[in-house]
Amino acid sequence: MELSLRLSAVAELVTEGNRLVDVGCDHGYLPVYLVEKKKIPGAIAADVGKGPLSRAEEHIRQSGLEAYIETRLSNGLQEIEKGEGDTLVIAGMGGPLMERILTEGRRALGGFRELILQPQSDVPHVRRFLLAKGFRITEERIVLEEGKFYFIIKAVPETGGNSSVQENPWTEQDFLFGKSLLESRHPVLKKYLQRELMIRDRILDRIAGADSPGEKAGTRRNEVEEERRLILAALKRYES
Ligand code: SAM
Repeated sequence: MELSLRLSAVAELVTEGNRLVDVGCDHGYLPVYLVEKKKIPGAIAADVGKGPLSRAEEHIRQSGLEAYIETRLSNGLQEIEKGEGDTLVIAGMGGPLMERILTEGRRALGGFRELILQPQSDVPHVRRFLLAKGFRITEERIVLEEGKFYFIIKAVPETGGNSSVQENPWTEQDFLFGKSLLESRHPVLKKYLQRELMIRDRILDRIAGADSPGEKAGTRRNEVEEERRLILAALKRYES
């Protein structure tokens, strides 16, 4: 089975041998792929919707993997017990929903060794959220697929109060664009930054061309100019 580029990047970040819990599994492609490849011994494929879950069940049955992948109707982590999995994947959902699932699922969350998250929105906020909740972001991926950029974040619980946030503080740029992606000068991140710059330039042109820009437009212009400054600073890192 072939996965999309986005789900392949998620799959690559799963540690070999780990038991997976995929919250919001929908079709169940990820657990099926990982078990078929023998990268993981088994998985729980969970979803809040009966429709998606039955799609996953059908797919698991067709692949003959019923003995390895359990399906579970669950709102977030509500029906997951602590210790049932090593890797928690939540992919293809908005950042705020993801944060709600992690907050409300605090009890089960404590049992996971790693989280792999692919938020569809509010990515910088998810990075801040993870660090504030005592996780360390160890790796990130960025993928461009069919004209859309996707960020994938791998995080592990901090151990022994040894906070990497204090040792190696994150800058605003790191939160916005991903520390490890910036450090590695990831080529896809460069494309993302160039596109974001173009969007800001268009907004500024529109504001400048408005007949009678009011106070609101002035505030917006200042915000966009600050965003543009941060994007340019990030792009500068590709020059040296
Ligand atoms: N994870 C897959 C992927 O990345 O391709 C599917 C993403 S799909 C766009 C989002 C899925 O999340 C849907 O199947 C939806 O039913 C499920 N979902 C939404 N809210 C949820 C919640 N609170 N708990 C569990 N699943 C949820």
